[in-house]
Amino acid sequence: MAKLVYFFGGGKAEGDAKMKELLGGKGANLAEMTNIGLPVPAGFTITTEVCTHYYDNNLQYPADLKAQIEEALAKTEAVMGAKFGDTENPLLVSCRSGARVSMPGMMDTVLNIGLNEATLQGLIKKTGNERFAWDSYRRFVQMFGDVVLGLKPQTKQEIDPFEHIMDELKHERKVENDSDLTVADLKELVVRFKKAVKDRTGKDFPEDAREQLYGAIGSVFDSWNNDRAVVYRRQYGYPASWGTAANICSMVFGNMGDDCATGVAFTRDPATGEKEFYGEYLINAQGEDVVAGIRTPKKIAELKKEMPEVYAQLDQIRGILEKHYRDVQDIEFTVQQGKLWMLQTRNGKRTGFAAVHFAVDMVDEGLITQNEAISVGRIPPDDLNQLLQPIFDPESKRKIIAEGKLLAKGINAGPGAATGVIKFFADDAESYVAGFKADAHGNRSPESRVILVRRETSPEDIRGMQAADGILTAFGGASSHAALVSRQMGKVCVVGCSALQIDYTARTVTVGSTVLKEGDFISIDGFTGEVMAGQAATRPSEVVSVLIDKTMKPSESTTYQKFARMMEWADSVRKLKIRTNADKPEQAEAAVAFGAEGIGLCRTEHMFFDHIVPMREMILAGSVADRKKALEKLLPFQRGDFEGLFRAMKGKPVTIRTLDPPLHEFLPHDAKGQAEMAAQMGVSVEVIEERVKALHEFNPMLGFRGCRLGIVYPEITEMQARAILEAAVNVKKEGIDVEPEIMIPLVGFLPELKSQAKLVHETAKKVFEEAGVTVPYQVGTMIELPRACIAAGDIAKEAQFFSFGTNDLTQTGLGMSRDDYGSFIRSYIEGDIVPKDPFQVIDFDGIGGLMKIGVERGRAQRTDIKIGICGEHGGEPDSVKFCHRIGLNYVSCSPFRVPIARLAAAQAALENK
Ligand code: ADP
Ligand code: MG
Ligand code: MG
Repeated sequence: MAKLVYFFGGGKAEGDAKMKELLGGKGANLAEMTNIGLPVPAGFTITTEVCTHYYDNNLQYPADLKAQIEEALAKTEAVMGAKFGDTENPLLVSCRSGARVSMPGMMDTVLNIGLNEATLQGLIKKTGNERFAWDSYRRFVQMFGDVVLGLKPQTKQEIDPFEHIMDELKHERKVENDSDLTVADLKELVVRFKKAVKDRTGKDFPEDAREQLYGAIGSVFDSWNNDRAVVYRRQYGYPASWGTAANICSMVFGNMGDDCATGVAFTRDPATGEKEFYGEYLINAQGEDVVAGIRTPKKIAELKKEMPEVYAQLDQIRGILEKHYRDVQDIEFTVQQGKLWMLQTRNGKRTGFAAVHFAVDMVDEGLITQNEAISVGRIPPDDLNQLLQPIFDPESKRKIIAEGKLLAKGINAGPGAATGVIKFFADDAESYVAGFKADAHGNRSPESRVILVRRETSPEDIRGMQAADGILTAFGGASSHAALVSRQMGKVCVVGCSALQIDYTARTVTVGSTVLKEGDFISIDGFTGEVMAGQAATRPSEVVSVLIDKTMKPSESTTYQKFARMMEWADSVRKLKIRTNADKPEQAEAAVAFGAEGIGLCRTEHMFFDHIVPMREMILAGSVADRKKALEKLLPFQRGDFEGLFRAMKGKPVTIRTLDPPLHEFLPHDAKGQAEMAAQMGVSVEVIEERVKALHEFNPMLGFRGCRLGIVYPEITEMQARAILEAAVNVKKEGIDVEPEIMIPLVGFLPELKSQAKLVHETAKKVFEEAGVTVPYQVGTMIELPRACIAAGDIAKEAQFFSFGTNDLTQTGLGMSRDDYGSFIRSYIEGDIVPKDPFQVIDFDGIGGLMKIGVERGRAQRTDIKIGICGEHGGEPDSVKFCHRIGLNYVSCSPFRVPIARLAAAQAALENK
C-alpha cells in the first residue's frame, strides 16, 4: 500500500526537510521542526502524489486515502488530547496548501475546520471564552465560504461579500474595529454569513466536521490549478506536474485574548540584509490577519516589551533555525495563552541586496562556505540587477521635499527608487505598460513607468505588479503579500503607508490636502519608505557609484564591499571568460570596471551612424572610384573610434565585426534627406531616389548583408581592416598592448570567409609595412547560420576563432523573425509549446544542438580554436550555464550584465564539478 499520509506530532515526524518534493515545503519543514524538538501542533501531510493522482484520474483520490487520513487523524487526536467533531472536547484543524516551492498566497488555506453549532458549544465550555469561540466560528464560515464554497467578489470594484456584511454590521453598531464587536454581534454575523452562503449557492453551510475537512482538502488540491497559481508557476517555470501537498494541522489560537498573538518574522532583515530580527505580530488575532494586511501590525521588537518570555524563546528559536537550516528563515508563529507554537519555516525570500549581505555574512560567521555563498540558491544571478539599479538623486529628492511634496512615509519593503504614473488596478497597470516599447538600448521613458497604488495587494494582482516599476500600499506590513512578492520580483515597494486615502471609484489618492489622480506622477523610495508627489530624478546605485562614476570610495559602501568579495569568490571558480558587447570607449571602460576581460562584439555600424553623411555617400556611390572616395572620408573616423576602444581595453582582446546590416538601414527615406544627399553628392534627386529604391529588400534580414556586402564591395572590408589595424598600430606605438580580432559576420560557406580573410591579411601586410610596426591579430567568424554550424569543420580551416551570434542563429534556425515573433510568442509560452522565449534563453535542444555541432566540428578541425557567444543570450544566466556545459571559452554581454554573467559562470562551474 503506497504511503499517502505522513504524520507529525509529539516530538517525532514521519517526514523530514529532505522530503519537499513529496510533502511540499511546508509539510517537510513542519516535520523537520517537530523532529528537532520545536513546538509544532500535531498534524499530518497528504502528499503531492495524491494531488497528481487526483488530476490524472478525473479528480478521484486513491482508494486508500481515506483510511490513511483517519489513522493519522486519530494519532493527532491522541497527541492533542481532543477529538475532531466531538461536541464536548472538539479538536479543530487547519487545512493548508504547500507545494515544494513556496508560492506566497497563490493557493488556499482554511482555518478552524470542525466548528459547527454543536462543537462550538464544546469549545465554549472547554475554554470558557465565548467571544473567542464565536470569533473563530465567524472566521471559519467566512474562510470556508470563500475558499471552498467560492463566495468571492464578482467585479474588481466589489469588496469581498463577507467583508461587505462585516462592514455593514460595524456601521450599524457604530464600531471601528472587528475587535469591538460583541458576542451578540458575532452571532449575528454568523447568521448573515450563512444566509449569504444559502443565497449564493442554494445550499446550507455544511455542519458535519468530516464533510468540512474533505471539502477543504479538495479545495486545496483544486487551488493548485487556480488562475493565479497558474500564472505564478508560469512566471517561475514550475511545472504543473509537481502538485501541492495538503497539510492538516491542529489549530492553536492567537485570538483567545490579550495573552495571545500571531506573527511572522524573518531571522534577518530580508530587504537590507542586516543581521536584525525582523518581523511583525498582532495581539489577539489569527494568522491570516497579519499577512492579509487588514490591521497594520507591530514590529517584533515590541514583543520584547509586551511578552518578554515569549520573545526570548522566539529569539532562541531564531538562532536554532539559522544554525539548523544554515540560511535565513521566514517563520510563522502563534502564541496561545503565553505558549509559543511554530507554524511554518522556510528559507526567506530576499532582495538582491539582502542575498549578497546574507551570503557574505554567513561565510564570515562560519555557517556556510564561499562556494555555497555564491550558489544559485543563495544568489540568483539576475538579482544582482538590484545592486546596479538607480537610487534617487539626493539633490532632486531634497528639492521635491522642500517643495512640500513629501506626502507620507510607509514601510520600506523593497529597496530602490521608482518614479512613475499612478495606476490603481493591476490589470490597468498591465495594459498601460504593454502600450509602450523600450528603445533599442532597453531604455524606457518615464511616462511608460507605473507605480501600482493599492490599499493592499492580493495574489490576483501579480501580473500588474510585474508590469509596475514600484508598488505602494496603504495597509499591511513588511510581511504582507505586496512586500513578499515585490521583494522576490526585485520591485521597489513601500507598504503600510496609512496616511494614504485611496478611493478606487474616483481613482484618486489623497494625503491631507493633496489629491493625486490616476496618471499623475508619484515617486517612492524603497530604502526609506518615503512617498513623494511628482517625479524625482534617480541616480546610480552604490556599486555603480564606486565602480563606474567613482563618486564614492569603496570604503564608503558596505554593499559594494560585500559585492566585491562575492565577485572575487565567483571569479576564483569560474572557467568561462566574460567579455562585453561595446562600441564606445565609455561602455568598454564601464564593462572593464564590472569585470569584463575583453570585448566580444564591437558593432562597427553603430559608429557609422555618427558619421552618416559620408556613410550615405559610400552606399549611394555610382562607381567604385566614388565609393572609395567616400570610404576614405570614413577611414579616419573609424580609426579614431578603434583607437579609443583599444586604449580603453589596455591590451585585452577586442573583437570587431565588419559591417553587417543591410545598407538601406543607413539611407534617407524622406524627400528632405534625399534632397540633402543629392546636393552633397552633386547628383539629381531622381538619381538618389533610384539608388535608394534599388537597395530596397523584401526580407532584408536574409538579404544583402553580413559578409555578402564585403564580397560584392571588397573595398568596404579593406577600409575597415585598414582602420582597425592602423588604430592598433598607433595605439601600440603609444606603448599600449593591443589584441584585435577581426570578425566576419553571416558566413555560411568557407569561401566567403576565405575571400574576406584574404582582404584582411593583404591589408595588414600593407599597414604593417607602412608603419614599420607589427601587431598580432586574428581573423575569425560569427557562427550565426545553421549552415555555419554544420560546416564548422570546414570553416575552421580558415577561422581562427568562432563567435556564436545567437540572435541570428535563433532567427534563422527557428525560422522566427526577431522583429515579428512578438505577435505569437506569448501564446507559444502559455500553451507550453516552448518553455521560454527563445530570444531570451537559448533554445537548448534546437539552437543549442546546432551550437554543440559547431563546437565539436570546429574543434575537431582546429583544436585550440577560441569559441564564444556574443548574442543577447550571453548575459542570461541559464544560457551562460549552457555555454559552460558545451565548452565555450567565453560569453559576451552588455556592460551592466557582466557581474551577472560572472556569477552565472561560477555557478555553472560549481554545478558541473
Ligand atoms: P500561506 O502559505 O498562505 O501562508 P498557511 O497555510 O501558512 O498559508 O496559513 C495561513 C495562515 O494561517 C498563516 O498565518 C498560518 O500561520 C495560520 N495557520 C495555519 N494553520 C494554523 C493552525 N493550525 N493554527 C493556527 N494558525 C494557523
Ligand atoms: Mg504560511
Ligand atoms: Mg548577426
